[in-house]
Amino acid sequence: MSPEAVIPTLPALAHPLLDAPHPYNTEEFDQYVMTTYARYPLTIARGQGCRLWDTDGREYLDFVAGIATCTLGHAHPAMVEAVSKQIQTLHHVSNLYYVPAQGELAKWLVEHSCADRAFFCNSGAEANEGAIKLARKYAHTVRHIEDPVILTAHASFHGRTLATITATGQPKYQKGFTPLMPGFYYVTYNDIQTIENAIAELDAETPRVAAIMLEALQGEGGVNPGQVEYFQRIRQICDEKNILLICDEVQVGMGRSGKMWGYENLGIEPDIFTSAKGLGGGIPIGALLCKSSCDVFQPGDHASTYGGNPFACAVALTVCQTIERDHLLENVQARGEQLRAGLRAIAEKYPEHISQVRGWGLINGLVLKDESALTAPEIVKATMAAGLLLVPAGPKVLRFVPPLIVSAAEIDAAVHSVEQAFANL
Ligand SMILES: *Cc1c(COP(=O)(O)O)cnc(C)c1O
Repeated sequence: MSPEAVIPTLPALAHPLLDAPHPYNTEEFDQYVMTTYARYPLTIARGQGCRLWDTDGREYLDFVAGIATCTLGHAHPAMVEAVSKQIQTLHHVSNLYYVPAQGELAKWLVEHSCADRAFFCNSGAEANEGAIKLARKYAHTVRHIEDPVILTAHASFHGRTLATITATGQPKYQKGFTPLMPGFYYVTYNDIQTIENAIAELDAETPRVAAIMLEALQGEGGVNPGQVEYFQRIRQICDEKNILLICDEVQVGMGRSGKMWGYENLGIEPDIFTSAKGLGGGIPIGALLCKSSCDVFQPGDHASTYGGNPFACAVALTVCQTIERDHLLENVQARGEQLRAGLRAIAEKYPEHISQVRGWGLINGLVLKDESALTAPEIVKATMAAGLLLVPAGPKVLRFVPPLIVSAAEIDAAVHSVEQAFANL
């Protein structure tokens, strides 16, 4: 059978559900699944493009995209084809052998970034763990630092493993999980003075600062873009002191900012950066990328059973190639401007509630005033009722991260739903 033969043809949008509406037993779900999430009372049955349908057949515009993950939306023909082809050819072999799809994906990422080499894993947290290990090994072997420290920012988010919750400068993710990992120190994002003070203090007797790890735009911490002068000064400091600059590109990377990588908005190049979320378009994959000058990993230093398997890599490569082939970065820039203009018009109507609209490309935040009684989770519920899915970034920021294929009409529809939600609150 040719691979094409199994690619499903999608039913027309007017008839989104193959079956009749079928309510889902959420009580049974809650009985068997650990309650690590406070879930909305919503069960999604199907998706196509930027649209989702729940089990009652209600349609939603998806401006969550699996939290900045479904780069090409849902059931994109290129992904359907890549998944079908690869599962029929070869889906998994060990990294004990050469995996051509992994090599091709690494080559694409290197040719479209400042990095020279890649390592593949399965998630953002795991990519950041790899970055932390690489930075520590560099500190030990190249700089002969015995007790290395990595600077990270307050309000950052780097993942949920022990090392990455420690790197994450938000106590709410750390509560109940002490002892945390040694070797981290927090600075204030977009405040160069706190970095200079930290280095002066930590390096007072002998050099200890091994790396500075930051998001180019803080995603979970409130959709807060990095400042150009701040990052350029950090780059200078890192060059002077041989400190590694690590950019966590898990949320802002892969075209979401309107450029391929978030750091391109800041006019700097990191020594190491990490990717996940948008990289696989919803198929789990993570990547650690670095300049050859800091690639100190040797056989046995780091590994992952699933990392870089043929299935994940073939799909991620398709996501990358589709971004390029369909000129999606241009769409991200244009749709982002359109969205921010629409949201700013709403902000002008409700100055008592909204303080600011901020972001890059298709990662944007509508920021509520501290003194407003409204909260982001409350507005998410209201827009959900109006048929628009959004996700908060903290208690006071409404986050907009649609698929990169979103159309002008879909942006207008989303803005209209937000307007409706505010009018009814
Ligand atoms: C989501 C996220 C992570 C963690 O990724 P997982 O795949 O959930 O482990 C790390 N860093 C940033 C910036 C993120 O947004």
